[in-house]
Amino acid sequence: METLRTIARVPITVKRRVLVPTMGALHRGHLELIRIAREAAGKEGEVAASIFVNPLQFAPGGDYEKYPRPETDDEEFCRSAGVDILFRPSLDVMYAADFSIAIEENSLSTALCGKSRPGHFRGVCTVVAKLFHVLVPDAAVFGEKDFQQLAIIRRMVRDLNFQIEIIGAPTVRESDGLACSSRNQYLSATERQQAPVLRAALAEGARVAAGGERSASAIIATARKVIDMSPLARLDYLELVNADTLQPLEIVQPNSLIALAVFFGQTRLIDNIRLS
Ligand code: AMP
Repeated sequence: METLRTIARVPITVKRRVLVPTMGALHRGHLELIRIAREAAGKEGEVAASIFVNPLQFAPGGDYEKYPRPETDDEEFCRSAGVDILFRPSLDVMYAADFSIAIEENSLSTALCGKSRPGHFRGVCTVVAKLFHVLVPDAAVFGEKDFQQLAIIRRMVRDLNFQIEIIGAPTVRESDGLACSSRNQYLSATERQQAPVLRAALAEGARVAAGGERSASAIIATARKVIDMSPLARLDYLELVNADTLQPLEIVQPNSLIALAVFFGQTRLIDNIRLS
């Protein structure tokens, strides 16, 4: 594995290159993305991973400073996962001091997490576009855990004509259903015990929908009751939306999704489930 810290050293390649962008503190979710990237790259292709904690996507006073950065462990993780190129630039490599351009998606970003995290997806689009320019991948893999992010990246690729295939990867979970996340390590022992409530609420919503309930408000109310049973959980949002537009629905349609964000103390966790 080659570790690169500057843009100038990124090799130009004729091989198929598949990129996995991350912020590090790698876990089994990232491992699955790397596995999917390997498969998509094929024997002759190469897998590139990036690790960059992007200040542009954090709110002022958010967890940018304290975001975990286990550099040595992450590097070893990538090596043993079969990454060929690890790009881990410093802040000044990615952003000039007088950096003044950003990419903004103006429709999907107004829904769900966009409401409680203004500017977040602007930061995400900007850094991902930069990583695409620097690493010139043929394809890139993103997790469905961050469903809105995946939808926005697909939109950016379409609207800005990036010649890059975007591959979605299913959510990887702990044995109790909690979606793996770098932020899970912020949780206290009691918060961690209660955190599977996100998945339980989604599963309950999906169960009543599968049983024939079509009303979004009834499905949401059922899921909400599950969250309310957890004393430490504070709901940010719980919505039933169209999976393409991310706009709220009143009645379940074929392409529906329940998405939620829940705070445990300062830690904000997200998850979602497709309704079939
Ligand atoms: P992050 O390092 O949290 O910015 O995530 C980097 C990529 O990993 C994003 O595409 C995430 O959607 C994806 N990811 C994070 N957690 C999971 C998970 N539990 N399952 C699948 N993909 C994930």
